[in-house]
Parts: sequence; C-alpha cells; structure tokens
Amino acid sequence: MDCIRSENVKRIMVKFPEAAKRLFGRTFVCKKCKTKIKAPPQKVIDRKVKCRRCGYKILRPIKKGTK
Ligand SMILES: [Zn+2]
Repeated sequence: MDCIRSENVKRIMVKFPEAAKRLFGRTFVCKKCKTKIKAPPQKVIDRKVKCRRCGYKILRPIKKGTK
C-alpha cells in the first residue's frame, strides 16, 4: 500500500468505487504513532487529515489479513 501514489488512488476511486471502499475503509492508522483515526478516505488521500496525537499526515488504511 505504501507505494501507491495519491494520483493513482484517485484514479482507482473513480474507476472502482467498490474496490476503493474496500481498500480504504473509514478507519486509518497513523504511520508514526499507530493512533486510529476515523476520517473520510478522500480527505486522507488529499492529506487533509492530521493525526490528532502527533500531527503526522501520512495515514494508512487499517486492514487486517492483507498480503
Ligand atoms: Zn500519530
């Protein structure tokens, strides 16, 4: 997931809304301090959401059991 660039993500969101929904649920995890944050996926992709604990802007979607 880390190598997906936001431009590509936007394209995926437009083309495959269902896949995007699966990929980007509404809960994200701060990459720095691992705090869980609930936010709209689009805002996270646009880096408009900050971690409320450390202020880090890079969040990843929470997902378990992904290869
Ligand atoms: Zn954080």
